[in-house]
Amino acid sequence: MNNDKRTLKLNIKGIVQGVGFRPFIYNLAIKNKLVGWVRNSSAGVDIEVSGSKNILDSFIISIKNDAPPLSKIDLIKEDWLEHKYFDSFKIVFSEDDPNAFIPISPDISICEDCLDELFDKDDKRYRYPFINCTNCGPRFTIIESIPYDRPKTTMSTFNLCQYCKDEYTDPTNRRFHAQPVACPECGPQVSFVIDKEIVSEGENALQQAREYIRSGKIVSVKGIGGYHLACDAFDEIAVSNLRERKHRIDKAFAVMSLSADKVKEYGKLGIEEEEYLTSRERPIVILDQREDTTLASSISPGQNTVGVMLPYTPLHYLLLEEEDDFPSAIVMTSGNYSEEPIDIDNDAAFDHLGPIADAFLINDRDIYIRCDDSVVQPYNTGKNRAIRVIRRSRGYAPNPINLQWDLPPILAVGPELKNTFCLTRDKYAFVSHHLGNLENYETLSSFESTIEQYERLFRIKPEIITHDLHPDYLSTRYAQDRASAENIELVGIQHHHAHIASCMAENNLPSDSKVLGFSFDGTGYGTDGNIWGGEVLLASYSDYERIGHIRPFSLPGGEKAIREPWRIAVSLLVESGVDNSKIAQILDSIPESDVEFVLSQLDSDVNCPKTTSLGRLFDGISAILGVSRHVNYEGQAAIEFEELAFCDEFRGKNKYLDYGNIYDYTKFVNNFIHFPSFGKSKPLISYAFHDSLAQWVSSHAITNESTKSIALSGGVWQNRLLTKLTLSLLSKHDINVFNQNEIPTNDGGISLGQAVAAYHKIK
Ligand code: ZN
Ligand code: ZN
Ligand code: FE
Repeated sequence: MNNDKRTLKLNIKGIVQGVGFRPFIYNLAIKNKLVGWVRNSSAGVDIEVSGSKNILDSFIISIKNDAPPLSKIDLIKEDWLEHKYFDSFKIVFSEDDPNAFIPISPDISICEDCLDELFDKDDKRYRYPFINCTNCGPRFTIIESIPYDRPKTTMSTFNLCQYCKDEYTDPTNRRFHAQPVACPECGPQVSFVIDKEIVSEGENALQQAREYIRSGKIVSVKGIGGYHLACDAFDEIAVSNLRERKHRIDKAFAVMSLSADKVKEYGKLGIEEEEYLTSRERPIVILDQREDTTLASSISPGQNTVGVMLPYTPLHYLLLEEEDDFPSAIVMTSGNYSEEPIDIDNDAAFDHLGPIADAFLINDRDIYIRCDDSVVQPYNTGKNRAIRVIRRSRGYAPNPINLQWDLPPILAVGPELKNTFCLTRDKYAFVSHHLGNLENYETLSSFESTIEQYERLFRIKPEIITHDLHPDYLSTRYAQDRASAENIELVGIQHHHAHIASCMAENNLPSDSKVLGFSFDGTGYGTDGNIWGGEVLLASYSDYERIGHIRPFSLPGGEKAIREPWRIAVSLLVESGVDNSKIAQILDSIPESDVEFVLSQLDSDVNCPKTTSLGRLFDGISAILGVSRHVNYEGQAAIEFEELAFCDEFRGKNKYLDYGNIYDYTKFVNNFIHFPSFGKSKPLISYAFHDSLAQWVSSHAITNESTKSIALSGGVWQNRLLTKLTLSLLSKHDINVFNQNEIPTNDGGISLGQAVAAYHKIK
């Protein structure tokens, strides 16, 4: 009988720390009457366990099948050893190996068990806003260093009371080694602050915050990854006030409701949307609003959609608690001014957000890493519905992307807008959470310190740095400065190639793949010095050939044309051979002298950079139609233009059928401006324009002989109509279409593309 006894040694890699993995192993071993030990190591979890062979076999199977919900096993290494004698099963503690590293769990929304306790009058943590356990709560945003242990988190300043300590040390308890464990007696507390003075605490603070929101005021609420600004989402005056104070003119605000049922009162919720809305990552889901919506119209001006999320912290559940006169949706937008980093520090927030918020609901648990809410967008593939992540942040980051290659340590610094960076190590690509636009000092310093944090947490020392080709991006300068200071190899990757490489990596395409990539976006530095953005690239991971693009046009006034798309309209009309007098007539809402100025600017070619940007073409066409001649954020015209086509029945009859390598919009423009009353046919024209682009893509894809693999990437693919039309056309042919869903198709995905492209270039 004893001959059958063996000892099994296991090394488990993946997200296995801070997620209740050791107690799971402990309980599994006890249940199976196995003896030995389990411990966290810097590289994962190590186990040695003795017992009979068949029980050990089923032990491994149970580990794979029943692992705790937040864990993610990437690898189990098994070694069978000579039988060792142990007298019991123990959880043991170990030294840190300075070279090893493990992935860290993202912050996860409150679990069902904790939620039940939160509203259980008899529970010690009844109505305690920081209740959590190994299956839920903050992780990434409170970790200063690894291995993940309480002293290395921002919870280190709170000493556990006896009650919490008993749970923390009991392997059968769901709070065993839950590092952020806390209770009303020993943990963080909320306070309500007016004019930098604490006016109430605990339950009173909470009720005062609710009272403020109810009465139309703006409250800044400290959450898991930073501050939010909250107000009644049905109160037009409150929402407009918030807009004005935040200097955010048109860009949509997200809202939060207590449950999916509440969301259904104003948003259209399909199965896919509901699944994401209620997922433990709790992203903002972009929904179509119901026709009878009563949300304040200034929540998303000019759009039929609204970004919605459900509560993800106990504090949110208490803040949104149901009551007859409490709004069933509140605005929850990031606590920052437009395009600056979200505030995380109490004192800084008082100074910074003081002019916006009437009061603050703060707490004394520090946030170590700021992290915005994630955003996902449902879309239609022509066959079914799908969801793509368009801002990958809280709940998703820093989960690594698993790659098929063993990569050297590479730092990819990403682009300028919607920046993320990416660090690689082994088979992992750590794409950072969303950092925003690197256009000001605040975001740049947040970018630099976040790179430091990731390098420390994942113990990565870059041997290669890769960057965008744009010489003036702050990220490019950072890459160059650092590479020369630390003598690191530097690799430049063209922006649109990075988009396609990102799509290839997300879809796990092998190293020798060749794809026809449609890299459609707003702006990227082209190798000819022009601004690219409507590019057809025959691409591999390491290289590309530009085989098609949008017919070039001028951007009169450069950057100014982005905010004033009517300037692009003038340029497109000139390019299309339309008379000057007719141009002024079409753009009748623009003062004639302004139009004349731009005409002369184009004539003398002063400050008129050339572009093939599809994003800008959308802006220009939209402005010709009079949809958005002035905009307040990049991409606004395109969004409003797309929404327009959704308003009408899709019955476009496209006359533009000459699809060469160059998409020649002048034919399209000439078609519609000679339409007798084109001003009245805007939805039709918008639809036809989307359709013509889809046709162009599919004609390229069908006629190309070197590959049957198509990759779609770039921010323009967030246009749901273009995506749907293109995918339906392509689905009629024997073509493999690759899309981005897990990694943003916009510039948030660039850093991953840079990393994998640089790796293949130097290989
Ligand atoms: Zn929990
Ligand atoms: Zn306690
Ligand atoms: Fe881009």
